Amino acid sequence: MKRLELHHWILLAMGLGALIGLPLNLAAESGALPAETVATVADVGKALGDLFLRLLQMLVVPLIVSSLITGVTGMGDLRKLGRLGGRTVAFYLGTSFVAIVTGVLMVNLLNPGVGADLGLLEAGAGAAPNVVESGGHVGQILWAQLEGMIPKNPLKAAADGDMLPLIFFSIVLGVFISAVEHQRGDEADEAGGPYREGDAQDSPEVAEERSGAALLRRFFAGLFAVMMRMTLAVIRLAPIGVFGFMLYAAAGRGLAAFEALGLYALTVFLALAVHAFVTLPLILRFLGHRSPIGHAKAMMPALLTAFSTASSNGTLPLTLQCTERSGVPNEVGSFVLPLGATINMDGTALYEAVAVLFIAQVYGMDLSLGQQAIVALTALLASVGAAGIPHAGTVMMVVVLSAVGLPTTAVGLILAVDRILDMCRTTVNVFSDSCAAVVVAHYAADPAPTD
Ligand code: ASP
Repeated sequence: MKRLELHHWILLAMGLGALIGLPLNLAAESGALPAETVATVADVGKALGDLFLRLLQMLVVPLIVSSLITGVTGMGDLRKLGRLGGRTVAFYLGTSFVAIVTGVLMVNLLNPGVGADLGLLEAGAGAAPNVVESGGHVGQILWAQLEGMIPKNPLKAAADGDMLPLIFFSIVLGVFISAVEHQRGDEADEAGGPYREGDAQDSPEVAEERSGAALLRRFFAGLFAVMMRMTLAVIRLAPIGVFGFMLYAAAGRGLAAFEALGLYALTVFLALAVHAFVTLPLILRFLGHRSPIGHAKAMMPALLTAFSTASSNGTLPLTLQCTERSGVPNEVGSFVLPLGATINMDGTALYEAVAVLFIAQVYGMDLSLGQQAIVALTALLASVGAAGIPHAGTVMMVVVLSAVGLPTTAVGLILAVDRILDMCRTTVNVFSDSCAAVVVAHYAADPAPTD
């Protein structure tokens, strides 16, 4: 018999949780069972789910730090990347931002969480959210956010789980590891004259600094590989966590819990569809001068793999191959795509924003424009920091939740439908990477006369 894949187990666990929970809920309502007994079952479900969440939370800090440092140092000598690197990163941030705006508009249109009763408000997870200054000018809020991004002490930020300062520090650290690894002798030692890498003037001190920086780069790459494995291992326990949360929602709230989650999933899905079928094709057509349909056809094997594996990292070899088939030269693809698999996640960025705004609605929090801007900004950073593996975006959501003062355990709310959304958002992530490759290749072949 074919072995069941993880997502099948997750679906089974969901079904089982609902199958046990719903009749219990009905029995409690009709008085056939004492309400306290059913509440106890629901609490056991929640306790189980919370254990799984703790495991996920345990991974966040080392995963973000190692993923970001490895992403930045993997770009090689940042000076040499020049125009290609600048354009690629600008494209990545630009499209992710458009994706987020699409998501935010969709949530505000459909309001999937308004009035939803998912049954966590009175439980431990529902500790009153500490809303960020509710008043205040958008500019002031953003300024405070910017200020808060610079950690006074990066180790303390890590210990406190303060994600934004940690992300900022990790990127800067990555940039400077690269700078030292690729430094020239005359930068390190002012006495140095005209100098080329590896020539005789490469003093022992400089060589030592360079090899030290290379060691750091390799250390973080190793840590990243280990953390990815750990994440995959923890994710294997997802069926247990999902079962617990499902039991909790179904026994505690009955059918109402499902209606709300369905509307939330639809919101993410529609916003992803707008990005994949409208925004990215327009970009392909007008910036990449490529037929969107032709490109999508060439990319099909990669897109289907992304959909079924929910991992843009795992899909990378196919993404490279398919974009080459779509006419992107290998030297462009081999730089743009691995970087994209790490930092460019339009689908994830959109999903983070929608999910957090949905959670805020469930908690009855009315987010001001400034707070929504903070969600957008942190969703962008969270997507940059998310690894290209299943559910990484869910792990990163704590960054966005904590930025607006929502309890990080609220992630538990949306776990039940996460796999299917992960499959969809990963497909969009990979498609967006491939569009970036087409656009960058177009401009690399036909560079602007001045820069
Ligand atoms: N699974 C996504 C990816 O690999 C990341 C995420 O969880 O959003 O691209």
